[in-house]
Order: sequence, then C-alpha cells, then structure tokens
Amino acid sequence: MGTRISGGTAVQLTEVSKVYGRGDTAVTALDQVSIALARGSFTAVMGPSGSGKSTFLHCAAGLDRPTTGTVRLGETDLSGLKEAALTELRRERIGFVFQAYNLLPALTVEQNITLPLRLAGRSVEREWFSQVVKNVGLADRLTHLPSELSGGQQQRVAIARALITQPDVMFADEPTGALDTRTGRQVLTLLRDIVTHFGQTVLMVTHDPIAASFADRVVFLADGRLADTLERPTPAAVAERMTSLGEW
Ligand code: ADP
Repeated sequence: MGTRISGGTAVQLTEVSKVYGRGDTAVTALDQVSIALARGSFTAVMGPSGSGKSTFLHCAAGLDRPTTGTVRLGETDLSGLKEAALTELRRERIGFVFQAYNLLPALTVEQNITLPLRLAGRSVEREWFSQVVKNVGLADRLTHLPSELSGGQQQRVAIARALITQPDVMFADEPTGALDTRTGRQVLTLLRDIVTHFGQTVLMVTHDPIAASFADRVVFLADGRLADTLERPTPAAVAERMTSLGEW
C-alpha cells in the first residue's frame, strides 16, 4: 500500500488560456499554456507577481475554468464535467495544501486528516492512515486540536489530509509562506519524501528559490506564458532565472 505504479501523466494542460473581463479591460491571465505533469513528479511554479501562477493553479485544479484549452486529470477532461461532478472530482482526486493550513478548529488532528475520506463516504484504511501519520510525524498528536499545535505541525496535518485520499495530484499554494525558515524546510522535506516514497504527484506554487529547489523541475511563468523550465533546480540557478525573468 502506498507506492503506486509510476509512469503516465497525472495532469495535462493543453493550450490553456484564461481571459478575465472583456473588451478594453480584458486581462489575459494565462496565454496558451501547455504542460504535462508526470505521475510521481514534483513541480514548482514560479513567476513574478501577476504572472498567472494562481490562475494556473486554479485552472489545473478544476477550481476555475479556462476560457479556451483543455485540462485533463488522468483520463478525465475537466471541461466535460458539470459543477457537481467537478466538486466531487476535487474532493476525491485532488489534494490541496494552502499557506494558511485551513484546518477545522473544532476537529482533532485525526478527524481533520480523515475528513476527506468521510466526506467521500470512504472508510479509513488503518494501515495507510498509520503510515501517513508516521510519515508526517504526528503519531503522538492525533487527539490534539489544531490550536494546540505549532504552525509547522498544522501544515503537516494539512499535508496528511491532502495525502490520505491518495489523490491524482496534490496542489500546494505557498505551503511554507507562513512558516519560519527551519520549519519551512521540514515541510519541504516532507513534500519531497511523499513524492519519492509514495509516488505522489505534487505541484507547488512558490516565490522562494530554496523551496523550488526541492522540486524535480521548476516552470517559470511570465505574463501568463510558460517562459522557461529548469530540471534538477538548484537555489542559485532558480534565483538567476527569476532575475532574468524580471528583466525580460
Ligand atoms: P500571480 O498568482 O502570479 O500573482 P494571478 O494569476 O493572480 O497571478 O493574476 C494574473 C493576472 O490576471 C493579473 O494581471 C491579475 O490582475 C489578473 N486577474 C487574476 N484574477 C482576476 C480576476 N478574478 N479578475 C480580473 N483579473 C484577474
């Protein structure tokens, strides 16, 4: 349990554009973006403010619909889905980790982690649950409330909650944005581990070159376009590309 067959594409965007507004005030937030995320890969998305990172994440995760182009999650074309089916798909096949953790304050750590399964009417496989809580280092915190945890621990609960359904892809939006450097590194190491050990596919939006260096690949957005990609990134190489994008 836990390790899955690798190979294939988890998420595929084909010529995705997103235009907000119309006429003179229209803004092209994404401009013909095509990208495939391989199963079991860790991708970081970077780019200046306003370059389209949030729009990219929202379109890829089925939170927003592209103006043109297609998004596929595995074999499923999201544009063919009605709202209810899209909501169910997000709940069952996509994991989300946000900067602000978004845990339910009245639920214990264990209840927060297993919530997506209960919402989907699925039972909790004890062996997988144990493996997840052990990996995120929360085995001795299961009966605590979020308010009794540090920021780093709360983010690890959020990661466990995103991982528990074994989603096709986990989206992380600035997951270390609210954490100090050391705690942030622990969270990034955890994300790296769940890609390497569980074959989980992860896409992370970040503005931090060190955070991006934990990924297998960094994609750079500029003015809504895919401007560049960097394989096996180092912090220095990422920072250098960001600087040249700023000038671009
Ligand atoms: P980033 O996350 O890189 O800062 P965004 O995806 O938030 O970039 O924004 C890309 C562009 O689209 C920006 O010019 C932004 O102002 C515009 N934009 C984003 N969301 C909306 C919206 N709901 N309505 C109008 N314009 C938007």
